[in-house]
Amino acid sequence: MTKPLAAPKGVYDVVGADSARWDALEARFYETAARYGYARVRIPVLEHTDLFVRSVGEATDIVRKEMYTFPDRAGRSLTLRPEGTAGMVRCFVEHSLDQQGLPWKASYGGAMFRAENVQRGRYRQFHQLGVEAIGVDDPALDVEVVTLGWDFLTGLGLADVTLLVNSIGRPEERTSYVGILGKYVEQTVPDLGPDDRERLKLNPLRILDSKDPRVQEALAGGPKLRESLGPDSLSHFEDVQSGLGALGVPYVVDDTLVRGLDYYTSTTFEYTSGALDAAQNALGGGGHYDGLVEMVGGPSLPGIGFALGVERILLACEAEDVLAPGGGVVDVIVLVAGDTGTVARLVVKELRDAGVKTDTAYGGRSLKAQFKHADRIGARVALVIGERDLDRGVITLRDLGSGEQVEIPVEETVQRVREVMDR
Ligand code: AMP
Repeated sequence: MTKPLAAPKGVYDVVGADSARWDALEARFYETAARYGYARVRIPVLEHTDLFVRSVGEATDIVRKEMYTFPDRAGRSLTLRPEGTAGMVRCFVEHSLDQQGLPWKASYGGAMFRAENVQRGRYRQFHQLGVEAIGVDDPALDVEVVTLGWDFLTGLGLADVTLLVNSIGRPEERTSYVGILGKYVEQTVPDLGPDDRERLKLNPLRILDSKDPRVQEALAGGPKLRESLGPDSLSHFEDVQSGLGALGVPYVVDDTLVRGLDYYTSTTFEYTSGALDAAQNALGGGGHYDGLVEMVGGPSLPGIGFALGVERILLACEAEDVLAPGGGVVDVIVLVAGDTGTVARLVVKELRDAGVKTDTAYGGRSLKAQFKHADRIGARVALVIGERDLDRGVITLRDLGSGEQVEIPVEETVQRVREVMDR
């Protein structure tokens, strides 16, 4: 026997009820985004490596350690996208979408790839749903984007979600803060661990995400990024907060929320779930970016967006018992008793044409085996087409939930099935 092949580590299949929940989640997301005026775009999974190096940033964990990068057959370096914003911005620039009226508002979704340490809620191929609004600098647009994500998550029925917001200001404001922060941390915790040393050297703001309790304690009493922000950044942040307050969107200001990617400026935000383990509790997040469109070769335009993790949201839905899978794959199964296959197939077609999810049994199995199959696939109604019944113009309808069974005239099939489904 050939040894069966398994999917690579950190990569998995979505089947059965999980797949149904997944579809429901995606549909809800694109509906919500559409209500806010964000049209769906589809961007590729493969991009030039340089796009991510330039945008996400050379010093980030993603670019340094996590990208799936390989030369194509002509020797060009390509990368499986580790996130969606860079590709969205590239798409905006490549098609001169700034000509179509700003802000350009769009949603996207799909698989992202990062070579991570795999654990529950952290995979190598995972999926994000996101939006971007590019071209206008207005705190009200930040409020719209943050509210969209909040509406989507709470609209799923999730109750234990917290919205964290912060402002990381402009790059020059951050530079001044980073200097102060680095000195403070080195003085307060002189024997930093190797991880934190590397963070301070390569991407100093990430020290705020340190796992070392001593560093976290020092940071609690240390200098705050907000203290380095100028009046414009502060007033933008205040407007975002008052805008959220006016719409009744509850938020918590988190001084340490800097997020991992280089391109963020000004507003940053994250949605966390209290129903998930603390280490993997971020459902998604995003922020405002100022230099990104230019970095990718476009005009100097700001943007704001977020990305939500599908797997994390599904885990939170499971933990909070919302977004339950709705029924089986089909509602009705047509069973064949005797030489009635031709009529059965016509009944199947009629139901399908009428919009009823219908299947039938294949392979000439016994009626008992067909009922077992009906049960396995979770059908709600079985229609049994028997030879002698057909002579009288009737078929048998069985409600598989209650076990109730009636004879119905063949021509009333669609109507009678609907009556049972509506119960
Ligand atoms: P990021 O692009 O890192 O800000 O991630 C946004 C969201 O995507 C996170 O909050 C998670 O919900 C999800 N996410 C990021 N990385 C992974 C991963 N490796 N596996 C599963 N979900 C992820």
